[in-house]
Amino acid sequence: MSPLTTDRPALTQLSEEEVAFRDAVAALAHAEVAPRVRDMEAAERIDPSLTRQFFDMGLMGIGVPDDVGGAGGTVMMITLAVEALSRVDAAAAIQVDVQNTLVNYPIDRYGSPTQRAQWLGRLTTDTIGAYALSEPGSGSDAFGLSTRARRGDGGWLLDGSKAWITNGAEAGLFIVFANARPEAGYKGITAFVVARDTPGFTVGRKEDKLGIRASSTTALHFAEAFVPDDAVLGDVGTGYKIAIETLNEGRIGIGAQMIGIAQGALDAAIAYVKERKQFGKAIAEFQGIQFQLAQAATELEAARLMVYNAARLKDAGHDIAHEGAMAKLYASQMCERVTSRCVELFGGYGYTREYPVEKFYRDAKIGTIYEGTSNMQLQTIAKRLLR
Ligand SMILES: Cc1cc2nc3c(=O)[nH]c(=O)nc-3n(C[C@H](O)[C@H](O)[C@H](O)COP(=O)(O)OP(=O)(O)OC[C@H]3O[C@@H](n4cnc5c(N)ncnc54)[C@H](O)[C@@H]3O)c2cc1C
Repeated sequence: MSPLTTDRPALTQLSEEEVAFRDAVAALAHAEVAPRVRDMEAAERIDPSLTRQFFDMGLMGIGVPDDVGGAGGTVMMITLAVEALSRVDAAAAIQVDVQNTLVNYPIDRYGSPTQRAQWLGRLTTDTIGAYALSEPGSGSDAFGLSTRARRGDGGWLLDGSKAWITNGAEAGLFIVFANARPEAGYKGITAFVVARDTPGFTVGRKEDKLGIRASSTTALHFAEAFVPDDAVLGDVGTGYKIAIETLNEGRIGIGAQMIGIAQGALDAAIAYVKERKQFGKAIAEFQGIQFQLAQAATELEAARLMVYNAARLKDAGHDIAHEGAMAKLYASQMCERVTSRCVELFGGYGYTREYPVEKFYRDAKIGTIYEGTSNMQLQTIAKRLLR
């Protein structure tokens, strides 16, 4: 008999505290993000005054324990925040998402007490972080990375380049994966926390992208960049484990981003079809339109349940590699379908920048690519089915 895809119960109902938190983030998104979306997209940067508000509201340290300056929240709360922000702007949301899931999480989980106090103290107060695994020659095959770390006097010298690093333009701290023992293969991969002002480290070219244009995506270059021994996160040779476990949590955040984008597009489409008149009546009165909205809402709800369930399982201490991959895969595919349908519901206007749906449509695409392409999610899911 083939195994059940998941043998755990869904625990998706939100508590009063979670609802209040989600609504507070939604209010911030409405009041502070929405008026800036167009300008930030045109300027290709997140307004620093908005990032300041994210810090002030505790959104840059949602899951960080309060003893090191965080809000002491859960993965479910990160999920709700990323969803609420993405409903308005997926680029602003990814700044918060990467900080929480790809930067704070591994430092909290693997950092020594001193490292946690030092780095998380900054990351929850005023410093943006970035996660640097991908390279020009290694994306899906991430452990084939060619950045090297070799011993220097009292530390390590990093050499190599990273590609497509989110938050690269603004980050003050970077988690950088480099191989310190190439002869050991992927078991030589080591995670380093590198400050932006490290001599020999430069932030390179910023990508000109299809979507999430206000989110910076940059190259990084290391030329004998010296970092001290206490820049090693976890142990030498454990970077591959840190990278995998971090991305497992990260995928819940991308799933949250996708359900937020789809909801934002659907909100806009529902409002539009009630206003737009053809054949003498609002197009919302045509059953053909109603059924498209109903189909989109149903797929969105299915994705939301998958994402929330993965978050709940993570908070309960389970390994969520399987459920996280499924949630991210399905949510990103759903988001492409729903945003595409919403563009069509707007007709010709939907294809123009006058209305917000074309941006939702462009922003949706990244969900099938970063933190593992859809094929890589399918590979993870299939591995468990066949084990
Ligand atoms: C906007 C943006 C932000 C990003 N942010 C970050 C970041 O912050 N940090 C970071 O480290 N990286 C980041 N990335 C990199 C991203 O994670 C990689 O682009 C992604 O993992 C895919 O790698 P690749 O681009 O090298 O594609 P490739 O690995 O070359 O894949 C090309 C195609 O081949 C397919 N493929 C590859 N191998 C297989 C296989 N074995 N079986 C079947 N199909 C396969 C893929 O699914 C894909 O369709 C970002 C990328 C973008 C575009």
